Amino acid sequence: MKSNTHVIVIGGGAAGFFAAINCAEKNTDYRVTILEKTNKLLAKVRVSGGGRCNLTNACMDNKQLVRNYPRGQKELQSVFSRFSVPDTIEWFTKRGVKLKTEPDGRMFPESDSSETIVNCLLHEAEKAGVKIKTGVDIQEITQNADATFTLKTADGGEFHCDKLILASGGNTGEAGYNELRKSGHTIVKPVPSLFTFNIPNHPITQLMGVSVSDVRLRVANTKIESEGPVLITHWGLSGPAVLKASAWGARTLSDLKYDFKVVINWLPKYTEEKLRIEFATQREENGARAILTHSPFELPKRLWEFFTTSAGITDALRWADLPKKTANVLINRLINDEYIVKGKTTFKEEFVTCGGVSLRDIDLSTMQSKLMPNLYFAGEIIDVDGITGGFNFQNAWSTAWIAATNC
Ligand SMILES: Cc1cc2nc3c(=O)[nH]c(=O)nc-3n(C[C@H](O)[C@H](O)[C@H](O)COP(=O)(O)OP(=O)(O)OC[C@H]3O[C@@H](n4cnc5c(N)ncnc54)[C@H](O)[C@@H]3O)c2cc1C
Repeated sequence: MKSNTHVIVIGGGAAGFFAAINCAEKNTDYRVTILEKTNKLLAKVRVSGGGRCNLTNACMDNKQLVRNYPRGQKELQSVFSRFSVPDTIEWFTKRGVKLKTEPDGRMFPESDSSETIVNCLLHEAEKAGVKIKTGVDIQEITQNADATFTLKTADGGEFHCDKLILASGGNTGEAGYNELRKSGHTIVKPVPSLFTFNIPNHPITQLMGVSVSDVRLRVANTKIESEGPVLITHWGLSGPAVLKASAWGARTLSDLKYDFKVVINWLPKYTEEKLRIEFATQREENGARAILTHSPFELPKRLWEFFTTSAGITDALRWADLPKKTANVLINRLINDEYIVKGKTTFKEEFVTCGGVSLRDIDLSTMQSKLMPNLYFAGEIIDVDGITGGFNFQNAWSTAWIAATNC
């Protein structure tokens, strides 16, 4: 027989479903209901990972794992000690989802289709008896004197529950946050994370599609630095090094209104001194060869041509005849290349929110609010976000599991 305890989960995304399923599985006498604003369930899971759903990362050491979270790094140690990557793998595997790991550690369903994860969550929710209502936009949350909740919808409807799990995602909207502010919760200002850099009208964008496997980039006059592959696109710069910089620097770059200077070292293995020695070696050993067609560096041909021609090097100029001044321009270009960024663009529409409910207001051993009993948080609504690689879903699974098994 069902007890009277009714748990409502606001949000039909990854965290909401994972919380609802685990809560209903653990407490078979609870009534568990998901309320979703839109008519689509698990919309982000469906489009995630380019339609393949990168659901976690094969990083089994929690100390390493937390390093992938610009926000929440310290606090997630405690969260992952309760539900971590091996638990995620076991959870999905036990429910018939075969997973695979790519060389960079990203994990996907073996089917390479996010539908596998969507179907698993929908099926498990049904099996556990979770009720789902779509088109329900919760606008007001009131805690009653007996610590139960009354929820009001945008169209005047009402719901009541004993416990509430808030899993409404990063783009919860001011209305959602205002409800929490009213009850004293601190909302760390939400700003976007994981975006690419726009460098409008710069000739380098003509090289769209060209990628370099290892660069070091920094944002001038800030502490933001990152390393890794960069991809030149028709609007500017993308690729893992750029996304990482956007994540670690999300707040600073928002303060700069996405108007800043980025400095790229296209040859991070070289110091300026080493590069000068390399140039001298080329003069001596390959003096008769044309600079334009003979690059001593592991750079794409089109990029080398772009750097040399924009340094004023003509087709026939030989290494032996390279004027010192031109060599200096080229060396500077290779290791101190500056671009003015004006604006940002999302990467394959993937982005996460930096900011949200302050971790100081949450008991991380239960995910319960420290300010409002019976209120729990899960997923991107909290002030945690990761870089790309499956880390954002891992946060959703872990926080949802903790909320579900403690409410
Ligand atoms: C295009 C894209 C691709 C991504 N790919 C990956 C990936 O491969 N790997 C990875 O780890 N991360 C990825 N991410 C990030 C990841 O999808 C999110 O971090 C994760 O989905 C967060 O889950 P959530 O349940 O907390 O929030 P959401 O998925 O945003 O779900 C919240 C739900 O709550 C609902 N809601 C909001 N307000 C209300 C309200 N007032 N009343 C009722 N319902 C409400 C929303 O409609 C939504 O359905 C991707 C993100 C995007 C945008």
